[in-house]
Amino acid sequence: TTVSLVRTVPSGSPTVDDFKVSSEPASTKESLKDGEILVRTLYLSCDPYMRSRLTGRTDSYVASFEAGKPLSGSGVGVIEASASPKFKEGAIVAGADFPWKTAFTAPTNGFIEVPMPGAAQPVSVLGVLGMPSFTAYVGIVTLCQVKPGETILVSAASGAVGQMVVQLAKARGLRVIATAGSDEKVQFVKDLGADVAFNYKTAGDYEAAIRKAAPDGFDIYFDNVGGEFLDAVLKCIRPNGRIAECGMISQYNATKETAYGIRNLSYVVTSKITIHGFIVRDYYTTPAYLAFIKEVSALLKENRLQYKLDEVVGLENAPQGLLDLFEGKNFGKRVIKVTSR
Ligand code: NDP
Repeated sequence: TTVSLVRTVPSGSPTVDDFKVSSEPASTKESLKDGEILVRTLYLSCDPYMRSRLTGRTDSYVASFEAGKPLSGSGVGVIEASASPKFKEGAIVAGADFPWKTAFTAPTNGFIEVPMPGAAQPVSVLGVLGMPSFTAYVGIVTLCQVKPGETILVSAASGAVGQMVVQLAKARGLRVIATAGSDEKVQFVKDLGADVAFNYKTAGDYEAAIRKAAPDGFDIYFDNVGGEFLDAVLKCIRPNGRIAECGMISQYNATKETAYGIRNLSYVVTSKITIHGFIVRDYYTTPAYLAFIKEVSALLKENRLQYKLDEVVGLENAPQGLLDLFEGKNFGKRVIKVTSR
């Protein structure tokens, strides 16, 4: 099975009809060329940044998918056959550009073998040790340099990035205020350790809701949503506040007509706010990556970290699995389980 893009969708909400799920003869061991590997896909990741890869735009930090071609993204799989000395049959490999196919042959570049000690599960590569977790780390540690005793506000707190922001911030001695889009998600982030959490969909006026949740203000905002919520934050954050500008998911499906225009930007001046925009992929080759692995591994060992995955089974369900992100239909880190093993 392969999932490809039928047409690019520059703005507005994509639908499943913009994708095509097709069957084709499976790649086989016999078709391997020298130096190639045959990979069976185990899990694929659905990530909000992939919306920008559906636009057809070429001026973004990551190129758009092309109409008629398969999608790709972070994935983990198992080597079924190898014509390369680099990987042995049975090895678990991960990559940032896994084609959305159940199995495929490819040259070895772009894949890395992941050791699977003890009870380790291949899906952890996309989960607790994956890109969204590292994003949380870079935002709060590397860029905002949070300190014990400070207060952080985080939006989309039950999601892939958000749930790690909550827990890493708690582990570092911060007070955490969190928002999420359902009462069940709110309960989940409280169970993770958030001191205060509220459902932004039922809270009414954002500014009033933020002031109620944080009567003494907050020092840091980890932004996953942008738009009207960010606008309210600009008014409420303490002087010298820092913002980890991670994402603006409320705007990814916006059109020229529906895009939210920020009104409170002048608070950046008067409240002396620092906004750290960042793209996590720039940080894999910095010391932050090893520091992240070390910190998360230690917390895992001490049983101080949970990570909620939201699995959709079957590659044919991947298009809907991706689109769900933009409607908050995922609860936790959304992955597609492609092959059971
Ligand atoms: P999530 O797992 O959090 O899934 C997306 C969530 O966003 C939904 O579950 C929903 O949660 C919320 N959401 C969806 N639509 C809206 C909307 N219109 N308004 C407000 N909230 C909405 O995704 P990730 O954790 O993977 O990503 C979170 C953010 O981080 C995204 O903006 C993403 O682009 C960004 N990101 C940035 C990276 C970087 O390098 N800068 C790297 C990775 C992610 P709810 O039900 O709570 O509304």
